[in-house]
Formats: sequence, C-alpha cells, structure tokens
Amino acid sequence: MKRNAAKHPLPSALPDPEGFIDSETQVAGVIGYPIRHTLSPAMHNAAFRALGLNWIYLPFEVPPERLDGAIKGMRGLRLRGLNVTIPHKVEVIRYLDELTEAARRIGAVNTLFWEDSHLVGDNTDAGGFLQALRQAGFDAKGKRVLVVGAGGSARAVLYALSQQDAYLFLTNRSIEKARQLATEFAVEQVYPLEPYALHPVMNQIDLVIHCTPVGMAPEAEKEPPIPLEALPPHAWVSDLIYRPLHTRFLRRAASLGLHTLGGLEMLLYQGAESFVRWTGLVPPVEVMRRALLEQVDSE
Ligand code: NAP
Repeated sequence: MKRNAAKHPLPSALPDPEGFIDSETQVAGVIGYPIRHTLSPAMHNAAFRALGLNWIYLPFEVPPERLDGAIKGMRGLRLRGLNVTIPHKVEVIRYLDELTEAARRIGAVNTLFWEDSHLVGDNTDAGGFLQALRQAGFDAKGKRVLVVGAGGSARAVLYALSQQDAYLFLTNRSIEKARQLATEFAVEQVYPLEPYALHPVMNQIDLVIHCTPVGMAPEAEKEPPIPLEALPPHAWVSDLIYRPLHTRFLRRAASLGLHTLGGLEMLLYQGAESFVRWTGLVPPVEVMRRALLEQVDSE
C-alpha cells in the first residue's frame, strides 16, 4: 500500500532512509498511551540524521498494565534512552534506580538515561522551559510570574522558576490543589481562577504561563479566563500548548501588544536536553525545530 508522506512521515524521518539499520544501531524512543500523536520521533530522528549517528528513535505504545514490562524490556534490550509521557510520568518512578534532583522535586520523570549500570529518571521539562524562555530573551531572575494550572507541567515550571529566584503566583481551577503546590514551591500567593480575583495582581506581573489544556486542539476556540488586558505593557505571555502553535490565548496577548512564547519551544528544548543525556553531544537545535514545525504544519 502506498504511504501518505504527510500522515506517515516515519520512513523519510529514519536516520538512514536507504535502510542501513544494522547490528550497531542504537535505539531510543518514547513510551506513552496513547502515543500516535507524538512529535518526538520526527525531532530526534532528524537530529540523529543531521549528526550522522547510527541511532533510531521509536514510539512505543505502552498501556499502564505493561509499564513494568516496558522498563524491564529497556533494561534487557539496553535501549539507550527513553522519553516518558502521559500517563506514565509519575508511575515510572518506582521502576528506576535513581532520580535527578529535578525529577525528585517535580515528582515526575520524562527522560530515562543510563549512568553506568543505573537507570536514572530525569525531568527535562523544567530545564527545557527555562531554555525556551532564555532563547526568547526573557530572564526570569527576580521576575514576578503568574502560573496558571497545578498539574504536571505546572510543577515543572514552578520548579524551574524557583531555581531562578522568581516570585511565584499561582492560580488553578481547584484551589486546594494550588494551595498544596504552593507549600512545595514557595509560592507567594494563590488565587481562584476567576478574572475578578486575578485582576488586582495583574499589573505587577512580568510573565504569565498557561499550563492547562484549555485551548488545545480540537477545542482551540477556548482560552483560560485570565485578564491579560490588566498586564503592564512590558509583560510576557507563554502558553505550553503547541497544538495549535498560536493558541487563542496567545493571539489575544499579541493583539494587546504583549510578548508571546508558544509551547513548541519548550517541547524543542526539553527534547534537546534529553538528546544530551543520551548522546553527550550538542543537539542540532535548528534541525530539530524544523522537524517539529514540519510535523505540526502537516497536521
Ligand atoms: P495535567 O497534569 O493534566 O494538568 C491539568 C491542569 O489543567 C490542572 O491544573 C487542571 O485543573 C487544569 N485544567 C484541566 N482542564 C481545565 C479546564 N477545563 N478549566 C480549567 N483548568 C483546567 O496536564 P499537564 O501535563 O500539566 O499539561 C497541561 C498542558 O501543557 C497540556 O496542554 C500539555 O499538552 C501542555 N504541555 C506542553 C509541554 C511542552 O513541552 N510544550 C509539556 C508538558 C505539557 P484542576 O486541578 O482543577 O483539575
């Protein structure tokens, strides 16, 4: 059967399209459930190809009841590295030998790598997010940041910003969950996710980071209820969502003349950090960004 190149891009994304996979080929990949929408294979295979590495990155669909077996399989087959995505980021911890400080504090793992014979869990979402901010020209040191959400990505963002001595403000639909997070990450103040409650603090905020799925495709017409019009003109607005690339939330921020940063950059730099853990090499970031954009554009 003839493949549709846009819908099934894996063959052209192989490290060696001529089919040179051999006994030396090193295998990395991503586990999740479901996994078919992952953009990571395109990004990492493009990077391997650009550096001439005999590596391949594969998506593995692993339902929760097979997680134990998947990690045993990684050990047995000595896969070089794995990314871990929903729903395994917390559950996977119990199968590992060690955690990095970031993974321990965030309480979730998105990258597995080997340190000698030890299987280590890391969280590159935090470092990836900070790197995306830096590359965009925002230095978080000492800034006042409003984080929207209290799930896994909010935890990574709060950890990253706490390392930068930023002043943290938090809002979430379930206020109790926000209060719990606030005790873990030295948050200054917690607010209900309501425009009236947020309005008074907005003029002190330098950066808003949206960490919920509201506005993600296919419900791209939605946006979180944040009174962006009350931000000072120098403020930045970031959305972790990357489908669509330009969410309704970000478009509204841009229309107010605010600086914006979309989720694709965090996805890129968390991937770049994982790449370093596995290969020890400088990742070809531009190649990886192009691969991600091609994937998103073809959807
Ligand atoms: P999660 O752990 O499931 O967290 C969900 C959070 O969103 C919770 O705070 C939840 O509030 C809130 N929420 C969910 N539905 C809501 C609604 N209808 N109204 C208001 N709040 C709502 O998810 P996550 O892993 O943090 O991911 C959040 C988003 O970030 C997703 O869109 C994901 O794709 C994106 N993300 C992007 C990257 C990247 O590299 N760019 C990385 C990770 C995640 P309650 O506590 O009240 O339930």
